[in-house]
Amino acid sequence: MATCPRCKGHLTDSHKCPRRPLVVAAEIIASALAGGFIGLLLVAIFDRTGQIPDTDYFISVIAGAGIAIALHRAVRNP
Ligand SMILES: [Zn+2]
Repeated sequence: MATCPRCKGHLTDSHKCPRRPLVVAAEIIASALAGGFIGLLLVAIFDRTGQIPDTDYFISVIAGAGIAIALHRAVRNP
């Protein structure tokens, strides 16, 4: 059985290299940051008069990050 040059695993027809935890962690952090930023941006768009309290900004950032992580997982693990 041939071995994969990258991960040294068995090189079958359906072989896919296991993703390194560090790369996965970096992707999750990146998508969380992007989602949090989008959440912040959405609230800022609706908050033209500056009346939305900081706690609502905070919640939308957390929600955006959570949604982004969920989307990331859904895309990566179909
Ligand atoms: Zn491989």
